[in-house]
Amino acid sequence: MTLSSDKESVKTPKVVRSKEEWESLLAPEVYRVTRLHGTERPFSGEYCHIFEPGKYACICCDKLLFDSSDKFDSGTGWPSFSKPVDDSSVVYKKDTSFGMIRIEISCENCAAHLGHVFPDGPPPSYLRYCLNSLSLKKITHE
Ligand SMILES: [Zn+2]
Repeated sequence: MTLSSDKESVKTPKVVRSKEEWESLLAPEVYRVTRLHGTERPFSGEYCHIFEPGKYACICCDKLLFDSSDKFDSGTGWPSFSKPVDDSSVVYKKDTSFGMIRIEISCENCAAHLGHVFPDGPPPSYLRYCLNSLSLKKITHE
């Protein structure tokens, strides 16, 4: 799989809340990352160094997004996965902010900003889903 503009997908989120609702439901730093497209400081996230088995859901809507079996240590300071649990659970969008061309990923269920995907991951996908810990909620066992 390669990254290109055809990776872009458009979806209408099922969970729709006003800015005020999200602001009252989420911790300030979670609101900033997920709703205002922020990025947490590298190595600041609690999931950056955690590799125990488990699944990761969207912090905003509980949608299952990633599995620890796809998690790897990228050394970047952000939790990194080689693929989502289901490719249809994330939305891909070209992001040209900060003078870079990146692919932004967000939750297909509630449009929460998750992070970006880069074409420098391990095989077989060769993709690195670079996420904010703050966008995720670890579900220990299922
Ligand atoms: Zn979500």
